[in-house]
Parts: sequence; C-alpha cells; structure tokens
Amino acid sequence: MSTWTSCKDAAKTVAEGLERELPFHRRVALKFHLLICSACRRYRRQVVGIHRLVRRHVNESSQSVVELDLATRQRFIEKLRQASVTIDAGTPAAGTPVIPPDGGSSHR
Ligand SMILES: [Zn+2]
Repeated sequence: MSTWTSCKDAAKTVAEGLERELPFHRRVALKFHLLICSACRRYRRQVVGIHRLVRRHVNESSQSVVELDLATRQRFIEKLRQASVTIDAGTPAAGTPVIPPDGGSSHR
C-alpha cells in the first residue's frame, strides 16, 4: 500500500470528489499531495470553479440538471491541465486565479 499520490491520482481524486464523498484515506492522500504540489492546487481550484459555473449555467438555462458524462469531463480536465501547466511555465506571477472563487453570486 502506498501513501504517495501521483499527480494523475490526485487529478482523478479531484474529479471524483465533485461527484461524491470520498473515503477518508483518499481525501487525506489528496490533501497531502496538494500541500506539496502547487500545480495540482491550481488545477483543483480551476476544476471546482468550472464545475460550479457549469452547475449554475445549467440551473439557469433549464430546470433539469444535465451532467457531463465522465469521458467528456476527463477530456475537459486534461485540456485544462495542459493549459494550466503551460501557463505555469510561462508566467512568473503565481497565485493568479483564473476563475474567481466566488463569482459575485449575491450581486443584484
Ligand atoms: Zn500534483
């Protein structure tokens, strides 16, 4: 049994965590990985942000909630991951959120 989580595992755990409550040991493993890996921290923030945006958009545009199927989501995530790695390598300024944590939901 390994306590080490690779970036690949971390990404998978992040995606699954949006779907359902994860077992304790997986959440802990992810937490540890996020402590040492800034790329995955950024990735997670983006995935969670997009997940929220999609949710909200779907809720506003129709009554029924339509979920992306897992394959489509994985492809999305892969693209994002590649994009964020590219940004990471080219931009010295770290910690710039691509998506605001809370997109002014109470603004009216
Ligand atoms: Zn990582």
